[in-house]
Amino acid sequence: MRLKSLRLLALAIGLGLPQASLAEPTALTADGYIDVLTGDVVRDAVIVVDNGRILAAGTAADTAIPDDARRVDLPGKWLVPGLMNVHVHLGLILPGIQMLELADESEAALALRMADNAYKSLLSGVTTIRLTGEVRHADLAVARAIERGQFPGPRIFTAAEIVSITGGHGTTLEPTNDGPYEVRKETRRQIRAGADWIKIAITGGIGTPGGGVAQGLMMPDEIQAAVEIATRHGVKVTAHSGSSDATREAVNLGVKGIEHGYFLDREVLQLMHEKDVWFVPTMIVSQPATFEFFRRIGAPDWYMARVKEVGVDHWKALKTAVEEGVNIALGSDQFPFEPNDGTTATIREAEYYLEAGMTPLEALQAATIQPARMLEIEDQTGSLSVGKLADIVAVQGNPLEDFHALRSLGFVMKGGHVYRNDWGEDDARTVPLPDEEPTDAHYHDPF
Ligand SMILES: [Zn+2]
Repeated sequence: MRLKSLRLLALAIGLGLPQASLAEPTALTADGYIDVLTGDVVRDAVIVVDNGRILAAGTAADTAIPDDARRVDLPGKWLVPGLMNVHVHLGLILPGIQMLELADESEAALALRMADNAYKSLLSGVTTIRLTGEVRHADLAVARAIERGQFPGPRIFTAAEIVSITGGHGTTLEPTNDGPYEVRKETRRQIRAGADWIKIAITGGIGTPGGGVAQGLMMPDEIQAAVEIATRHGVKVTAHSGSSDATREAVNLGVKGIEHGYFLDREVLQLMHEKDVWFVPTMIVSQPATFEFFRRIGAPDWYMARVKEVGVDHWKALKTAVEEGVNIALGSDQFPFEPNDGTTATIREAEYYLEAGMTPLEALQAATIQPARMLEIEDQTGSLSVGKLADIVAVQGNPLEDFHALRSLGFVMKGGHVYRNDWGEDDARTVPLPDEEPTDAHYHDPF
């Protein structure tokens, strides 16, 4: 018995899981922190964390550090809230070499691959994610295992399986859900399984051959069926949509989020603003600065042609959305940690928002408090406010002065526990982040 519990303890330490023995408060000291609610900057900062939450935050001069506190000093660093990414597929397989390699992936292998991706996401500074379509409910198993402390990962919200129509985005040749009755049943099935959101695919997508990216494929009565059932369960619906017409239809039927929005025009973006509908742009999937990713995964020509086809309009849609003040929450549609243009998918995505006209504060909000508002957890996380969960990352420099400081992220705390500290004496990290150019590590080769 004793041996077993010792081994479990060793495992827990190795994985950086929260340990009961670390129950004493932690005091983080840094050059400064950013209040993303106001844009205020606090220099010479102290944040005291106790029981997983922020107990006090302020300047060193007026924030007392408890005598029993464990100190984590981060000189020269700035503290910002843990990043959020609300368009993620932990089990993502894009067209390319992976599709062949993972063609026979078992459910067990899928869950383990997703768990690994969850841990890497956390290490990259992303403390909360929303999953927008997984398969076989492996996401629910992974989310529960993280909650139980079986392995480390971000806080997970999930739309479980996409509710789609036959021939719709993300589907195979299998019949799926056609007509309002089948959509109702499928929506109920996902909510029963534990979905926090419902994701519907109302237009074609880049990754599915056939079915136009800009064509509304789901019928109004089908969209309405999903919204009605979800609403009765207190769950919101978000829609994969490329088109303005399909988006207008969906928004008027009560859909609360639009994913991608490749061809959204000013008029429909104004409607979204008016109706408080969230826009999750996922710019990284269509912009040239991040094409290297597609080359690396061996994306086929037809896929690249579709990516290029939507890129120009997608960029215009984002710029217009920023001008119109549409609520934007960051989503990458790639693994949050995926190397892109010298940084991670999440951070590059935020940089796109800056390039499209957001201020540094707005771009930081799109990666922190805005997704928290979208997920309705802004009273729990999303800013470095007293009482909220201690989801905190550190970067070298003030991102409001130089947004690229986010690229130097090297410290990750979630719920008061340090999962990564590149600048500490004992780096809590046990699994390295992928290099800029990963090797073919997914081939089984013990030598
Ligand atoms: Zn997606």
